[in-house]
Amino acid sequence: MPLTGIEIFKLLPKTNCGECGVPTCLAFAMNLASGKAVLIACPHVSEEAKAKLEEASAPPILPVTIGVGDKALKIGGETVMFRHEKRFENPPGLAILISDTMDEAEVNARLERCQQLQYQRVGLTLRPELVAVKNDSGDAQKFESVVSKVKQNSDYGIILMSSNPDILAAGLKVCANGKPLLYAATEDNLDRVADLAKENSCPVAVKASSLEGLVQLTNKLTEAGIKNIVLDSGSRTVRQTFEDQVTIRSTALNKKFRPLGFPTIIFPCEMTDDPMKEAVIASMFVAKYGGIIVLSDFQGESLFPLLVERMNIYTDPQRPLATAEGIYEINNPDENSPVLITSNFSLTYFIVSGEIENSKVSSWLLVKDTEGLSVMTAWAAGKFSADIIAPFVKKCSIGDKVKHHKLVIPGYIAAESGGLEEELPDWEILVGPREGAHIPAYLKAWKP
Ligand code: SF4
Repeated sequence: MPLTGIEIFKLLPKTNCGECGVPTCLAFAMNLASGKAVLIACPHVSEEAKAKLEEASAPPILPVTIGVGDKALKIGGETVMFRHEKRFENPPGLAILISDTMDEAEVNARLERCQQLQYQRVGLTLRPELVAVKNDSGDAQKFESVVSKVKQNSDYGIILMSSNPDILAAGLKVCANGKPLLYAATEDNLDRVADLAKENSCPVAVKASSLEGLVQLTNKLTEAGIKNIVLDSGSRTVRQTFEDQVTIRSTALNKKFRPLGFPTIIFPCEMTDDPMKEAVIASMFVAKYGGIIVLSDFQGESLFPLLVERMNIYTDPQRPLATAEGIYEINNPDENSPVLITSNFSLTYFIVSGEIENSKVSSWLLVKDTEGLSVMTAWAAGKFSADIIAPFVKKCSIGDKVKHHKLVIPGYIAAESGGLEEELPDWEILVGPREGAHIPAYLKAWKP
């Protein structure tokens, strides 16, 4: 159980030196207990106390890492039930299922899709992260060979799926250094799978047929010194799985119940045979509260919406995604190239810059800092009006880079054109399209 503020206080030096950023050890203890401070902020805490306090400073849902290097996937680490309370921390991993009974062509096709189905959006690369290799054949050698192929042909993290510890061990022979997730330890094989997890320092999933069963298994694993645990409540109906997810998250957070304080793994691939229904089920668990979501396959039409949903839910709701203010050169502009201006909401920037790129017309794009607000919102908030745009146009010296002095403003702020002509007497103000999709046609017709 996590320690209370008073219990934490008893372990602190009690010198009230203030080096942790708050005036007293008691205040620091209270912050630590409520997750508002981190232990390393106090440089004077003893090693003995540190060990005890680690429990108190850990998030209610412990983080688990699958894989190694820059493609390692971190899940869990969550501290809130609802995104608006603070933010969700680590997006769920999306996994594709590969069975060791699939023929070689099918395995190759799936691995190829893993590499191809990646998308650029608002400056981020959206892609899934995991391959779940399932032993359906019962043959350790066959399993090992498919795991080996996955390892050689993708940079994805691996989930080894078998209830047989010998078969898991066969998979580990070829990918242990990639720290795969072992799925799954059950009542029947717990000790041997726990040994494999410890020997190879791998995370391990536990599967039970009830939450009570899960608690018993996680207690045994934590007693054995294993903390990298992922939970499978065993349910395969949408309703029961949903209830389990909410119960697990709420019990870990609100009741501070450590045995359920781990990320979960969900199997929409085992809940339906209909691919679109599977995507809808997966989308539900992106929001609540999947740690890993295993899909029967990846197809662009269902994967892309899931990736976008995941990105949106796991951004910080208190901080809009913003692009740096400045002049952006697109398609190698020169002194005759058009000059456009937009706001610095990242989505706006990437849509506008993408459409300019598509037009193949060399252009200058001015991005004004509007505190991450879109054009219309910024304009309505008084952050994208003539008296704010004009000083920026002067200060950024775009006038030195072009001969024509024509500025294209977004169609949505056409009302600012008069004010801008007054503020920028050397410039001709042109009202551009309202929608990004109309930019290419507009630019192709543009004359300096
Ligand atoms: Fe107390 Fe440590 Fe903070 Fe100093 S830095 S006030 S000793 S908790």
